[in-house]
Amino acid sequence: EDVVNRIAAGEIVQRPANALKELIENSLDAKATNIIITVKAGGLKYLQIQDNGTGIRHEDLSIVCERFTTSKLREYEDLQAISTYGFRGEALASISHIAHLTILTKTADSKCAFKATYENSKLKGSPKACAGNNGTQITVEDLFYNVIARKRALRSANEEYTHIMEVVGGYAIHNSHVGFTLKKFGENTDIKTQINSSVIENVRIIHGNSIARELLEIEVKDETLKMSVHGFITNVNYSNKKGALLLFINHRLVDCVSIRKAIDAVYSTYLPKNAHSFVYISIELDPRNVDVNVHPTKHEVQFLYEEQIIDKIKTCVESKLLSCNS
Ligand code: ADP
Ligand code: MG
Repeated sequence: EDVVNRIAAGEIVQRPANALKELIENSLDAKATNIIITVKAGGLKYLQIQDNGTGIRHEDLSIVCERFTTSKLREYEDLQAISTYGFRGEALASISHIAHLTILTKTADSKCAFKATYENSKLKGSPKACAGNNGTQITVEDLFYNVIARKRALRSANEEYTHIMEVVGGYAIHNSHVGFTLKKFGENTDIKTQINSSVIENVRIIHGNSIARELLEIEVKDETLKMSVHGFITNVNYSNKKGALLLFINHRLVDCVSIRKAIDAVYSTYLPKNAHSFVYISIELDPRNVDVNVHPTKHEVQFLYEEQIIDKIKTCVESKLLSCNS
C-alpha cells in the first residue's frame, strides 16, 4: 500500500516547486503575513518554509498528514468553500510519502511549540514540546529519496531553483500584503518583499525597475459571467529579459493554455517578434464555475464560459496595448 501511495505522490508532486506551492498556500490559508523559504540543492535536499500564521493545534498534529481528514476539512462544512481554494487535504500526505517531513508549530494560545516528524502520512512517535515562535515551520528533506525514477528525471538543482523562484515570485506579487523571503541555505537572499507592499513594488523587486515602471493596469468586471479580472501588463520590448505570464485563478497560480495562447496572439500583433512581455493577471470566478475535480497540485485549470471570459480578457489587453501604441 505504501508503494502505491508513493507512486501516486510522485505523480502529484512532480518537482520541488510543486510541493512548495502547496506549502505556500497552506501558509496563506493560515493567515501568515510573513513567509520565509530556505532551499538546498533546488529543494531536492532541503526545502523549508517558515510562517507566522495560526499554527497547528497539538491535537491536530496526528492527522494533518492523513489524506482528506485534515482539520481544515472539518472546519469547512460548506463544500463550496473547499472548492474555492481546491482544498483536498492531500498535499502534506503526498509529501510525507516521498520525503522526510518535519513540522514545528505553535498556536498563539499554546505555551510551547511542538515538533512532529512524519513518514507515509503517519506521525512518527509523538510530538515533542520545544521552544518556537507562533506559526508553522515545515521542513521537507530528501524529496524523492524513495522515488528513483523521479529523482533521475530531475538532474539539475539550478533548474529546480529557477522553478522555485518563479513560484515564490508569483505568490509574492499576487500577495503583496505578505512579506516573502527566499534564500539558498547559508547564502544571500534572492527574493525579499515587505509586508503591506504593493504589486508594482514587488514586480520591481522581482523583475526589475525597467518592467515595473512600464506597467499598465488592466481591469474587467462582468456580472453575467461572474468574473472580475485585475492585473498589470507591459508593452515594451525587452530583448534581453525573459518574459513572464503570471496567471492566478481564484488566488491559485495556474497554467491555462487557452489563456496563454490568447495573450500571445494579442502581443504578436503589437510587439515585434521575439519581444518579451510581462503579464500578471488575477481572475476571480464563481468557484462553482471552476473545475473542482482538478487535482490540487495540478497546474492546468478548467472553468465554465472559458471562451467568453478569454474574449473579455483579450479585448481588454488589446485595447490597452492599442492605446499606447497608436
Ligand atoms: P489542505 O490544505 O488541502 O487541507 P494539506 O495537506 O495542504 O491539505 O494541509 C493539511 C492541513 O494541515 C491543513 O488543512 C491545515 O489544517 C494544516 N496546515 C498545513 N500547513 C499549515 C500551516 N502552514 N499553518 C497552519 N496549518 C497548516
Ligand atoms: Mg493545502
